[in-house]
Amino acid sequence: MHRVALPLIVAEKFAAASIKIPDDAIVVDEGRFRVFFPRSNAKLQGPIIAGLNKAEDLYAHAGLKLRGKLNCIVKGGAGRSYYWPGSSVMQINPKSLSAAYEHGHIVHEIAHWQHDKHVAGGFSNSEIKAKYKQAMAAPKSQGEQDAGKIKREYEAAKVELRRLQDEYTAPRVREGDEFQVVRPMGHGTGKALVRVLRVKKTVQVQILDPKPWDKPPYVMEVSGGVANRGAAEANPGIRAELNRLSEALQTAGKEEERLRSEAQKAKTQTWNTYDEVKSDWVPSVYSRENVMEWFAEIVTTTVLSPQLLIEEVKTWVKSVW
Ligand SMILES: [Zn+2]
Repeated sequence: MHRVALPLIVAEKFAAASIKIPDDAIVVDEGRFRVFFPRSNAKLQGPIIAGLNKAEDLYAHAGLKLRGKLNCIVKGGAGRSYYWPGSSVMQINPKSLSAAYEHGHIVHEIAHWQHDKHVAGGFSNSEIKAKYKQAMAAPKSQGEQDAGKIKREYEAAKVELRRLQDEYTAPRVREGDEFQVVRPMGHGTGKALVRVLRVKKTVQVQILDPKPWDKPPYVMEVSGGVANRGAAEANPGIRAELNRLSEALQTAGKEEERLRSEAQKAKTQTWNTYDEVKSDWVPSVYSRENVMEWFAEIVTTTVLSPQLLIEEVKTWVKSVW
């Protein structure tokens, strides 16, 4: 096991961004990239170096030359590829290199790095900010509008579900009502006991048949659900209402579940879609997040799918690069 001696300037950047490199990392420093591999990911050296070089080639092919040196930390698992603003450090999840993404994540993170460190003015570049503002003023595409509609339906379904849950558990007992909450005392004893199993939404009740261990003033709290079950025993009207609400709750729960997955799908689709340009200056829904994401997305599209962009966009990207 050996420690990697970092050049001082890099060590400072890592410290500033509180980025951790495993003690036993293997470092490969060549060309544009300095890559740190944990021992466990050592076998990924070949594909990752190749993937990074491929990304640089793609940039060059698009007429966007990379500048500077990027430190890359390879980190598998659930993490994602990520650029730390201000640091010249990128975390790479090896999944970013899978064919499915066509290097999209790495190209995107590299765009953040170049924007931050090698475009005039960095993240404060006013020309990029102004163009972003202009782009956001464009009307939304059909795909985005659809995703927005599904999301609103899902939000409404959640509200309805919560309303039904509240209605279902709202206490139906009022002062003066009489009911019993009965729990068997033990197997085959035939005896029963008044008890509270779990208190959530509570209602205060007066104990009308106090046991020797109950203390004055014989008041206790039961959950709305427990009180309602007791009240339903005595009142068929309440029982019918609770049954109706229970069914409505199930239906609303399923509908909420369906809309949740549909909204998630629509969001993922629109976020990841590069094959349907939203507007000439808005390459993906995700680019609406903020000016940094917008610029990274417009650069990524210029690099990976230039055929989707009008000449004006590509010319502009090159002019601010
Ligand atoms: Zn990003």
